[in-house]
Amino acid sequence: MEIVTVPCLADNYAFLVHDTATGATAVIDVPDETPVEAELSRRGWNLTDILITHHHADHIDGVEALRQAAVAQVTGARADAHRLPRLDRAVAGGDSFRLGQAEVRVIEVPGHTVGHVAYHIPAANAVFTADSLMALGCGRLFEGTPAQMWESLCRLAALPPGTLVCSGHEYTSANARFALTIEPANPDLAARAERVAAARREGRPTVPSTLAEELATNPFLRAGLPSVKAALGMAGAPDVEVFAEIRRRKDRF
Ligand code: ZN
Ligand code: FE
Repeated sequence: MEIVTVPCLADNYAFLVHDTATGATAVIDVPDETPVEAELSRRGWNLTDILITHHHADHIDGVEALRQAAVAQVTGARADAHRLPRLDRAVAGGDSFRLGQAEVRVIEVPGHTVGHVAYHIPAANAVFTADSLMALGCGRLFEGTPAQMWESLCRLAALPPGTLVCSGHEYTSANARFALTIEPANPDLAARAERVAAARREGRPTVPSTLAEELATNPFLRAGLPSVKAALGMAGAPDVEVFAEIRRRKDRF
């Protein structure tokens, strides 16, 4: 399977996933239909599926235009059907469906919004996380609780470490600056911050990352580590409270 990162708007990403065996092609989120259509026609791919992660305008604004142009089937969370474009397939956590020959597994990842879902495609070795787990960060808690987001992150952290994390925004430089305030002595983080800075200087996306990279450097995934708790003056505190404190600090950063 092939995955293509499509920059949209100022700092959003859509992703194309193409099953070479069957020609089935999905887009995950449509911030803006124009760059997605351009990429599809450049590659000669026919869009068959539109997968929506959550209801925010910067993830769904291009859905209707693409649906009409391509006769594609739209999938999204049943829990949020009332505030998503019309769904042809309404899904919940634990569901799975096919994209060509590939299985797509739905993971519930509430926190940023309550109906946020992620799509794990094992055959593509990728998970599409939008504004849940992000490169060196996680989404802001607009609707959910810290406990919900922490559980969501733990669910994603349990995927194979080589999984590509395809998240929804190019926020990684700012996230790296913040992460260094939490773990200034983490050598993996320092090295990643340099790679991120170099990529951005050259105008390259820093997304997707791998889950292994996130586990080694993303402060939000590392809230359960004794070293991180100690650095925050929270030795022995429950993981979720440490996560909540890191999220609070990021909101003020
Ligand atoms: Zn969002
Ligand atoms: Fe977003």
